[in-house]
Formats: sequence, structure tokens, C-alpha cells
Amino acid sequence: MTDFLGLELAQPILRAIADEGYTTPTPIQVKSIPPLIQGRDLLGVAQTGTGKTAAFALPLLHRLSENGGQPPAKPNSRKPRALILAPTRELASQIGDSIRTYGRHLRLRTSVVFGGAPIRPQIRALAQGVHILAATPGRLIDLMNQGHLRLDAVEVFILDEADRMLDMGFIRDVKKICAALPKRRQTVLFSATMPNSVQGLAGGLLRDPVRVEAAPAATTAEKVEQRVLFVPKDKKRALLGDLLKDQDIKRVLIFTRTKHGADRVARHLHQGGIRSDAIHGNKAQNARQRALKGFRAGDIRALVATDIAARGIDVEGVTHVVNFDLPNDPESYVHRIGRTARAGAAGMAISFCDHGERAFLRDIEKIIRQKVPVIVDHPYHAAEIANDNGKAKGGPARKGIQRKKRQGHNQGHNQGQGDGRRKSRRSQRTGRQAA
Ligand code: AMP
Repeated sequence: MTDFLGLELAQPILRAIADEGYTTPTPIQVKSIPPLIQGRDLLGVAQTGTGKTAAFALPLLHRLSENGGQPPAKPNSRKPRALILAPTRELASQIGDSIRTYGRHLRLRTSVVFGGAPIRPQIRALAQGVHILAATPGRLIDLMNQGHLRLDAVEVFILDEADRMLDMGFIRDVKKICAALPKRRQTVLFSATMPNSVQGLAGGLLRDPVRVEAAPAATTAEKVEQRVLFVPKDKKRALLGDLLKDQDIKRVLIFTRTKHGADRVARHLHQGGIRSDAIHGNKAQNARQRALKGFRAGDIRALVATDIAARGIDVEGVTHVVNFDLPNDPESYVHRIGRTARAGAAGMAISFCDHGERAFLRDIEKIIRQKVPVIVDHPYHAAEIANDNGKAKGGPARKGIQRKKRQGHNQGHNQGQGDGRRKSRRSQRTGRQAA
């Protein structure tokens, strides 16, 4: 098996990796790091939890640290050498944190800019000069338009979570940003899925790219122990309260479909004496950061989140994921459960399924290629939901579900936008591939 030493990264980077306790590169890292060190463009199909951030960050740091044996030159004011674009503030700031961690023995300056936070400190940091900039699209464009940032010195451009970027309606911004980049550059694009829209974008951005893929979704799902509980909708909160009496559930991420739902669940838990908080797109940036910090530190046992707010969030030691509401998009299910059982740790995903969600469960079981074991031994077990295999229903009932699916989908996409700007373009269902 390859170890990090075989990947020919600069010594200070290897030291930082060792500091982090990483011993073996993940498959996506093994496949991505060598071609990126060679300067190739890369198209990566990988989702959060596969180690994709280090897969692009380590070669980036390696490249920028090389300066004929000398420490890297001081950065130029307003002209970063590397740009990483991410769809959400959380993801952008986590990428910034990872780069600072892996680059801690290098003299490279990293900064993060995103909307919903004061612009002045970001302007100041850019004026002082940064080597690496992580950003969400809207704020980046604002800074460019105001003359605080130029992209003509960018040598490496990384677009992370491209599918989500397009789903959130950032295509125009992304194109505008790309047009401001130098033609000669290294470009890396990561995406969890490869719908035609992302392939089209990749075709225009990448030059003769290497294509790498992380293990398919089904493999991720196999690592996580999964269970489903059939429960009437109005009993879900009571069931959750019961479930959390189990003290083995130490750090739990709970997913709801809507922002209000997240607030309601967090409030209910709080009233029941469980330390909890909610994160979603309606919350101020500092409230979200505070909730995340509390969750990381273990002060908060249950964090309730919507899909987009939780995307890219990386918290170690999540013992359980609870799908309070099942997602209508089966790939979201795989993303969600991937938050537990990280880096070989044990983890469990528990899903509540009410009557209206039975079809979602069927879709999920199709893409993970397995049946989720059912727990019937709980006070709210609803046998009629368990027995509903969808066949008894005629066309109209099924249509009802389809309509619901579409509504749910759009709802999710309006949450937690990267920089708080609403895009006019309606997100469309992009025909995601079942990995
Ligand atoms: P990502 O897919 O980039 O969100 O990373 C998922 C998690 O895996 C993060 O917590 C990383 O710190 C961790 N990680 C990344 N690479 C490795 C590695 N080679 N060994 C152990 N953990 C890793």
C-alpha cells in the first residue's frame, strides 16, 4: 500500500500530515496527488469524507512551497497565486482551515472570503497579500468589482463541489470568475456527481485532465451501520427524545428537511434537557460558527441541520446520524450518513420514515444497493408504513409523491447559500447519476 512518503511531497508537508496522525493516503489522494504534483489538470469525482480536500490541498501547498530551496516569496498585494472556489461559507472556511493545518510548517499565507461576514477585514487581508485564497463566488466578485482583488496571478484554480455550485445557481458567477483567470494555469474540479451540466463546465475549464474517482456511493454506505424506524410523522419528535436516552449516542448530527423543522427539533430537544443547537441558512454566520464550535468541543450533543447547511461540515467523532426526515434525493442520504464512520471509526445512521417518505426509502435502497434493516422494537412503530411496498397504490398516489419530491428539492436548494445572495435561476433537477 502506498504511504505518504511515496508521494514525494515536500518535507514540511509530510511533517504536518504526521502531526495530524494520518498514516496512509486515502484512495482519492493516491490517485490525485501524483498527477497534480506533475502539474496536470484534474477532474475528481468524490464527495466529502473521502479525503478530497487534502487530495487537492497537499499538491497545491507543495507547488507553492517550491522556490529553489528558499522559503516562498512574500505574496503580492491583492494577487493570490491560488484560488479555491466553494459553494458555501462553511466549506470555504473548512478548506481554509485544512490548508492552514497542512501548511503549518510553510510560510504561506491563506485567507478565506465569503458573504454574510464583514468585508473590511477581508479587504485588509487581501491588501496585505495572500498566497492562497478560498472563497465563495458572490463575495469574490464583489471584491473584484471593488478593485480589492485581481486574479491575473492565479497559477492554480480549484473548483470544489462543482455540482452543488451549479445546483445553487452560481453558474454565471463561476463563468465570470473563470474569465478573469489567466489562460495558463492548473485547474482542478471536484464534484460529488457528474451530471451533464458539470461535464459541460469541466469541458470548458480543464485541459486534458486526469479523471479520478473515489469509491462509489455504495461503498461509503457499506461502512455505516444503518437502521430505519417506521413512525407516524407526529410521533417523530417523541421518538427522537426516546432514542437520545441512549447515552451511547454521544455526538449526533440530525437532519431535517426544512429550516423551521431544524429549529423545532432543536428546541424540543433543548426543552428535554439535551444540549442541542440548529444550523441552517437563516442563521447568522456567527451563530452557525458558534453552534459548530460547541458541537466540535462536545458542549453540544445534538446538532440539527438542513442538508445544505451541513454540507462539507467536518466534525470528528460523530457517533450517530439521525435522518429525522428522509431526503427526497437519495444521494443526499449517502452524503448525510457519510458524516459518521469517518476515517475508519464506527458509526451508525438511524432514519425515521413516515408514510409520505416510504418512496424516498425505496429510492435510497436502490442506490445503496441494500435493504436498510428495520427496528420494530420501539413504542411508535407503525406497521402500516412498514408494510406499504408501494405496489398497492394506483397512479395518482404515486404522482402525489412525485410532486412532493419536487417541492422538497427546491426547498433544500434555497438554504444556506454561499454568500447569502439569492440567485434568480431556478435550480433544476440535474439528472444525477446513481454512482
Ligand atoms: P474530506 O473528504 O476532505 O472532507 O476529509 C474527510 C476527513 O478525513 C477529514 O476529517 C480529514 O481530516 C480526514 N483525512 C483526510 N485524509 C486523511 C488520511 N489520509 N488519513 C486519515 N484521515 C484523513
